[in-house]
Amino acid sequence: MSTAQNNITDFDVVVIGGGIAGLVFTALLADLSATRTPALRIALLESLPPGPMAADAELDLRVLALAPASRAILLRLGLWQLLPAARVSPYSRMCVWQAAGQAGDSRSISFDAAELGEAELGYIVENRALRQVAWQHIKNLKGVSCFTDAAPTKLIQDTDNSTITFTGGQAITAKLVVAADGARSWSRQQLGVEYHERGYGQVGIVSHIITEQPHQATAWQRFLPEGPVALLPLADGRSSLVWSCPDEQAKELLAADAQTFARQLETALDGALGRIECTTPRVSFPLAKGYAKAYTGRRFALIGDAAHRVHPLAGQGANLGLLDAASLAEQLAIHLQLPLADPGDLRVLRRYERARKGDNLLTMGAMDLLNQAFMPPLGEWAGMGMEMVDRLRPLKSRLARYAMGQARDLPAVAQPLID
Ligand SMILES: Cc1cc2nc3c(=O)[nH]c(=O)nc-3n(C[C@H](O)[C@H](O)[C@H](O)COP(=O)(O)OP(=O)(O)OC[C@H]3O[C@@H](n4cnc5c(N)ncnc54)[C@H](O)[C@@H]3O)c2cc1C
Repeated sequence: MSTAQNNITDFDVVVIGGGIAGLVFTALLADLSATRTPALRIALLESLPPGPMAADAELDLRVLALAPASRAILLRLGLWQLLPAARVSPYSRMCVWQAAGQAGDSRSISFDAAELGEAELGYIVENRALRQVAWQHIKNLKGVSCFTDAAPTKLIQDTDNSTITFTGGQAITAKLVVAADGARSWSRQQLGVEYHERGYGQVGIVSHIITEQPHQATAWQRFLPEGPVALLPLADGRSSLVWSCPDEQAKELLAADAQTFARQLETALDGALGRIECTTPRVSFPLAKGYAKAYTGRRFALIGDAAHRVHPLAGQGANLGLLDAASLAEQLAIHLQLPLADPGDLRVLRRYERARKGDNLLTMGAMDLLNQAFMPPLGEWAGMGMEMVDRLRPLKSRLARYAMGQARDLPAVAQPLID
């Protein structure tokens, strides 16, 4: 096991899952509680830590569109500054259009950072690079022990503690368990939390592509009756494709040779960026939405995809997880300044749940609505709706600010920084 010292078995907080949500929560809680006496003891458990990454390694297929609020959290932790420039791509425009129209015509809507008085709408960041810098940071944090090469096998809760046992029999205890182990969360199951999941009958196909026309630092998205196809601009001039389509169509697209696939993608995008060439293999993943009925309970809290899973069409999943992480870390850090404060105090955990659940459910509903609105029989109306929103400047600006993570009730650490 691990970088943890063998004599430490009791912790205040254990975080299960070192994805973006778990890593950022751990780093923030350690940072916000740095002056506490006695020092907070945090354990981070991750079954698959990121391996070493060469500077010239091919860009990973999972890239995230991060909102300015997410960047503010990462800046605050000093993680943003460590990201290699080649793995971050700011974008200042978003162009969305419907199957019946063309990019730039009346059945389209575009969002421009300049119109909002902002420098960028968001940033495309490689998930692996972000995890890598977060791991480096956490490994050096005082009070944090990382367990990286042992899977937890048992989680037992009693009144004052939870006990987690690993393969091999070693165990640790903690006063609070934070489940951050993703959509298929093992800890959510162990904690007996009710979880509802529904597949969209769609598959997301991802690949990095070269387009004949430059991407113009723009995120492009076309809503087809079968599902949305999106291109996110990458720093090296390529674009990252996320094509959501029904299972049957996906099978055909994945079986097609690279040229045939590229021609079909050009048609799906109505030639908006000209000829296309795929530069990586195509990878697919099933699309589903899911939500945990409760985010908190006796000595536990769920954050990130362990609590909610949304359609990737507006790139909100990681952003929501980062806001969960910030909100929970903030509530806990304030509470833990009190003498004899218990990290598992349910009243504090409930404050986090109240702060985040509504926003997450609203976003999930909005993703659902958007995904379905452009399918028959509503597609025609959705196109007209888009045209209307494009003309209603205040509404359009409000929508853009919401997507940027600004028109929300933000935790203090997610408030924009002057940098
Ligand atoms: C193709 C694709 C594109 C996406 N694009 C965007 C985007 O543009 N913007 C955006 O905001 N979101 C996007 N998302 C969603 C985003 O990737 C997820 O919402 C986000 O990564 C969830 O982070 P997480 O830390 O909650 O979970 P995860 O990233 O799933 O991390 C969970 C971690 O827990 C570990 N783990 C699992 N089980 C255990 C266990 N039993 N014990 C210990 N550790 C365990 C895993 O190894 C993993 O490291 C996209 C998703 C996909 C699939």
